[in-house]
Amino acid sequence: MNLDFSNPERQDGQHASTAPYSANPILQKTLKTSIGCTGIGLHSGSRVALKLHPAPADSGIVFRRIDLVGGGTEIPARWSSVTDSRLCTVIADEHGISVATVEHLMAALYGMGIDNAVVEVNGPEVPAMDGSAWPFMFLIECAGIAELEVSRKALRIRKPKSYTNGAKRVSFVPAKSALRIDFEIDFRAPAIGRQHCSFTITPETFKTEISRARTFGLLSEVTALREAGLARGGSLENAIVVDGDRILNDDGLRHANEFVRHKVLDAVGDLYLCGHHIVGHFSGHCSSHADTARLMKQVLADPSAWELVEIDERASTWHDAEPIAALA
Ligand SMILES: [Zn+2]
Repeated sequence: MNLDFSNPERQDGQHASTAPYSANPILQKTLKTSIGCTGIGLHSGSRVALKLHPAPADSGIVFRRIDLVGGGTEIPARWSSVTDSRLCTVIADEHGISVATVEHLMAALYGMGIDNAVVEVNGPEVPAMDGSAWPFMFLIECAGIAELEVSRKALRIRKPKSYTNGAKRVSFVPAKSALRIDFEIDFRAPAIGRQHCSFTITPETFKTEISRARTFGLLSEVTALREAGLARGGSLENAIVVDGDRILNDDGLRHANEFVRHKVLDAVGDLYLCGHHIVGHFSGHCSSHADTARLMKQVLADPSAWELVEIDERASTWHDAEPIAALA
């Protein structure tokens, strides 16, 4: 592996493995202690150190560039900070100071139920690690999860919204509880082909079904990105690479439908840029970061399409989020 992740640095020198599964879902969460790791940026190819710190209630997820003079300004992980979502999701402050590829870390924070954290990086990109959210989830488990004595608010989708871009389509409809994601992809490359999956996002399903699904690319695209000066840090250690009907990674796939599971992972991370856990049913069909961004901006721009609600006992049971309205 091209990273020294095997020994995460917890600042109090202790080991913890506090899973969120028995935690009270009504209360906000943060990390018990600070923890860090280093890895390679997928696009920049440079080595980046990442540190996650506890943060107070209602502060949300905030990124900070510590390689810049003065410690850099804080960049809230919110849709209003998103400046680019073509290849990955990039957030920036008003001076253009940016952090790229935030989505896999954001997915891990959502999946582990972390409401508040400060994320420090000493470069322009979150390290790619193994191309999934699992290393970040492991870091959070090692740090431990602390409950804060403040209620969590969820963003509940109140009416259907959709966005279509050619063959790509994304939609949100209301749901009874939690976030449900359906995703379908259809690639010409036979090694990927047509895949579909559907999950209600809970700490348990995120960990076992989604967190280990890696990012992927077609060999032809990887070559083109490299020629454009991108994907410099990309390798078979942090992405699945497909050439027609072949998977070039020696160790093969982690799930038969790992590709579409990764699209669910990306959607979780991108959707968390609304700043809250979500009660709604999201569907993606052959869609990308940019399509999710368009849909969420459309939802958030319509005050009648969503509301912030205290998570009640009913929502806190994390039962299946069956849609209660369907798109015509
Ligand atoms: Zn991804």
